[in-house]
Amino acid sequence: QARSSNGTFVKSFSTAADEPSDKKEEIEFQAETRQLLDIVTHSLYTDKEVFLRELVSNASDALEKLRHMQVSGEASGSDDIPLEIRITTDEASNTLTITDTGVGMTRDDLVSNLGTIARSGSKAFVKEMQMKESMGAENTPDPFGSGIIGKFGVGFYSGFMVADKVDVRSKPATDTEADPLVWESTGTGTYTISALDQDIRQDRGTSVVLHLRPDMAKYAEESSIETILKKYSNFVGFPIFLNGKRV
Ligand code: ADP
Ligand code: MG
Repeated sequence: QARSSNGTFVKSFSTAADEPSDKKEEIEFQAETRQLLDIVTHSLYTDKEVFLRELVSNASDALEKLRHMQVSGEASGSDDIPLEIRITTDEASNTLTITDTGVGMTRDDLVSNLGTIARSGSKAFVKEMQMKESMGAENTPDPFGSGIIGKFGVGFYSGFMVADKVDVRSKPATDTEADPLVWESTGTGTYTISALDQDIRQDRGTSVVLHLRPDMAKYAEESSIETILKKYSNFVGFPIFLNGKRV
């Protein structure tokens, strides 16, 4: 599927003058994405736990894409990184991390997949919100779009219902020589992309780190994540590990 990378470049700064991989880019979210994020972060939608299903389904899609590439010879199938989903909770840092060893993302993938709205559900969502707005949001029974979030789903962006910052670390399967990258955003206006800190290990694939809001600390608890996962993990075609234990 063709997706344009139309993120508006804000600035680029370098920490070491002649090391291109140390550059940090700040890029503006596409207007529609900004609008969607604003709704997601301020929504009173109560069924917030759906964010986990969205992120696990993205992990599963990424693994499926990698498997397809391995079968067709586009990616090496000879390395011994297993195709799996690893979830870790950390109450001390109030974070939840969803990792997959799937296809991963390049810099341009990060811009077009996480900076713009490509999925049809989110597009329909924004359209319905714009319609509501033209009717005068204060006159509608659902000014925060809660019903619409449930109806369409908001994919990756649903992480911002529970997190005030999201980091996406990724290493693409298509370029094994590439330095792992990190996409970071607080969901307000812009995001940055930079080379991942050398101290953080990143295998092939993607890690989504949710820095949870203080009132969402329950999602940093193993027991609550286990309960949510058990509701649908049977339908995921790859093994899921929670803090190292198979779910
Ligand atoms: P959808 O899954 O419906 O396409 P999402 O908002 O959930 O929409 O995700 C947007 C896009 O971001 C995906 O289509 C995919 O290209 C990319 N993406 C999200 N998560 C991952 C991941 N874990 N690994 C690789 N790509 C991902
Ligand atoms: Mg998705």
